[in-house]
Amino acid sequence: MLDLVRFVVTLQSLYPFWKDASQIEAKREERLRALLAYAARHSPFYRRRFAGLDLARCTLTDLPTLTKSEMMAHYDDVVTDRRIKKADLSAFVDDPRNLGRLYLGRYGVSHTSGSQGQPALIVQDRDALNLVFAVQFARGTKLKRRFLPHLGRILNPARMAVLTVQPGFYPSASAFAYFPKFLTPFFKVLHLTVSDPMARNIRKLERFRPEFITGYASALEAFGREEAEGRMRLREIGCLQQITNVAEPLSNEAGDFLERVFAARVTDEYAMGECLVLSSGCVAGRGSHLNADLAILEVVDDQGQPVPPGTEGSKVLLTNLYNRVQPIIRYEIDDRVMMSASPCRCGSPLPRIEKVSGRTKDRLWIETGGKRREVPYYVFLSGLHHVLELAEHQVVQTGPRNFEIRAVPVSGQQLSADRIRQVVMEQVKAEGLENAFDLKIEIVPEIARGPSGKIARVKNEYATMVPED
Ligand SMILES: [Zn+2]
Repeated sequence: MLDLVRFVVTLQSLYPFWKDASQIEAKREERLRALLAYAARHSPFYRRRFAGLDLARCTLTDLPTLTKSEMMAHYDDVVTDRRIKKADLSAFVDDPRNLGRLYLGRYGVSHTSGSQGQPALIVQDRDALNLVFAVQFARGTKLKRRFLPHLGRILNPARMAVLTVQPGFYPSASAFAYFPKFLTPFFKVLHLTVSDPMARNIRKLERFRPEFITGYASALEAFGREEAEGRMRLREIGCLQQITNVAEPLSNEAGDFLERVFAARVTDEYAMGECLVLSSGCVAGRGSHLNADLAILEVVDDQGQPVPPGTEGSKVLLTNLYNRVQPIIRYEIDDRVMMSASPCRCGSPLPRIEKVSGRTKDRLWIETGGKRREVPYYVFLSGLHHVLELAEHQVVQTGPRNFEIRAVPVSGQQLSADRIRQVVMEQVKAEGLENAFDLKIEIVPEIARGPSGKIARVKNEYATMVPED
């Protein structure tokens, strides 16, 4: 009961409609100063880095930036609870039985997706885990009434279907593994595994009557094709309001297609394991709004200099304002982001994320039983982020059933090709693809960068996927 009261208080603090930009800014400033002071007090790593800085007055740009490899190299010193050890955590996430369990009885654990090259471990406390759902309640969905609208959910719980590859410690799945029990009267979640037979998933979906569907783009598109071809009838049932893409880029064409076949709004959320509540879908159109009271996103150029809204940067610096256990402050992420230069027509005072183009990918596919089927990048990632010695990787399709993983070890560490093969093939088997799949692993000292200076983590050197239909 106490948990529920705390949750409702959190909800009220998130509910954005009466907040203007100056209130949001004041909240952000307050949380930033508290985070800096806390990190300096409880994290040996940040204490050293912040030495000599006046943390109550310095500007954000006075603070040093942090790379993922630095964070992982100094992990035990970065975290603010001295009992947390990277070696223990690594063993914890390697055991699937731990999914949904709290590490040290207190902390939710996930890997970041590894789509940024090296995998990372993230720990967060119960409040931070619950925030994911509070933000979804308060901001991710369109609410008609302005006063305590979520209380109406007691009588009419929200129904959300979540499409993932397999249960695992990757961020979107692990968030749901830690779904708070006290929310079950208000929020019904149906978890579907995309590799299960489509007909069975469709039956489950139709019976569940979801209002919201969340998943990665290629899974959403696969369900869209079923609907378009008359094998699913969610549109006719009329329950579906919103479809949210997470974790993979959704092309405009694919977004239009989904809106057309489902007659539901499509939003595209930009978030990452280091900050699952970075943005919430716009209630008026495509795209998302930065939760600027919960996180700071600096869009910068190659030299780390800020670029103005309306201009695409070459990376972003993330500051997570709510995770005290593992402070993430000015953390570099390799995404090309453009913030909108004009206010959003939905009226939200939260900044609008206009475009994220860092996560482009070539599609991977495979031919089974004479049909081409997409192989989501996640199949590889969900294996690869068990390999903490991995600094950088590239997945390349080289033939109709041939895939190659080029892997670069973290400096001074050894990578085992056998281990990579084993963890990836486990996922491939879970997808039922092992008989149509040739995998080659190559350990290399570096991977050539593309013309933009970025590494293409997914490449199709064989042939573009032609959609069936
Ligand atoms: Zn908007």
